[in-house]
Amino acid sequence: MIVYLDNHSTTRVLDGISLEVVGCYTRRQRYGNPSSLHSLGLEALGLVETARNRVSNLLKSDSSQIYFTNSATEANNIVLKGKWQYERRHHNRELNIITTPIEHKSVLNTIENIFQLDPATKVHYVQVNKNGTLDLEDLETKLKLNNILAVSVMTANNEIGTINDIRTISKMCEKREVFFHTDATQAIGKVDINLEYIDALSFSSHKIHGPKGCGLLYLKENKNIDPIIHGGLQNTFISGTINVPCIYGASLACEVLAKEENNETNTEIKRLRDMLLGKIMAGLDDVFINGTVENRLINNINISIKDVPAEVMVSLSDVCISSGSACGSGSHEHSYVLDAIEAKYPENAIRLGLSRFNTEEEIEYAAKRIIEIAKAVRNE
Ligand code: PLP
Repeated sequence: MIVYLDNHSTTRVLDGISLEVVGCYTRRQRYGNPSSLHSLGLEALGLVETARNRVSNLLKSDSSQIYFTNSATEANNIVLKGKWQYERRHHNRELNIITTPIEHKSVLNTIENIFQLDPATKVHYVQVNKNGTLDLEDLETKLKLNNILAVSVMTANNEIGTINDIRTISKMCEKREVFFHTDATQAIGKVDINLEYIDALSFSSHKIHGPKGCGLLYLKENKNIDPIIHGGLQNTFISGTINVPCIYGASLACEVLAKEENNETNTEIKRLRDMLLGKIMAGLDDVFINGTVENRLINNINISIKDVPAEVMVSLSDVCISSGSACGSGSHEHSYVLDAIEAKYPENAIRLGLSRFNTEEEIEYAAKRIIEIAKAVRNE
């Protein structure tokens, strides 16, 4: 048996979607370039518009507010860099960007790159407590700065699964007329999101059982964002031939999530997650949960097992686990997220991410193996 518990990293494509994606490469009504004016181009354009409607239906937005990119990483770059570039073209003044120390690297490194290009843009990190919860008083203080370019706060963290109060945070930004972006890559389908005060939201197809190669971007209004990739324009500021197969597949994954709102899939994932955590905690001493227990993604576990290096668990061939720090399961990078929350034994932290495909039998097997291996390492 191989148990896949690395669903924060990527997910298995839903049955049925892969066939639809393949059809977009091969079927005559589907493989055209949506920019072409002939009939096959128009057919392909129709697929993209159908996809846009499905995504907007999930987010409860207008379809004109949905943009397709190649990844959530690209969407985050487009929003933050595009916004900065626009500002720089129009004003020569000190700018401030507010974010958190536990964002995904696609946000942190983009902001870092902006700072390197333009030291007059200052970066401010909102404090995070040991539970992984943001200090909203600190955010309120930072929001008093002048010339804030943007606030970027993720909806849920990809390592410790902690969920931010995006409704309150976005409202705080709206009150001060500050542009608010949230990276919702890990949260879509698992956390209720109200777009009312959100200016930009990004996520990724391959985290929601869609194909790899499609990022999704909601923009309330696309003014004041410059294109950062230049070429033939998709729609005002995104260039490149439209990736119809992946966009279409991504939209089918969105459609499944939209239909499932308030359904039992998440309840079952949470039940299995709680079962797995319960079994590990009952089977082993000195297991420490990283991040808050309450306010957490229903599929996430991040724990440090004392005296058991993460490398041991990550190298299991029958249970796919990542080290607590990693986005990709093979990486043993030091975790800045675990550092930020001053986690105990960060080198022993493992991240387990469940999905709808996990079964009770798999969870029992995974718990047994994790306990077995940990005891063997500890000589218990
Ligand atoms: N943002 C978060 C919170 C993520 O977890 C990830 C991937 O792990 C990304 C962004 C990047 O997504 P993509 O793989 O689509 O670039």
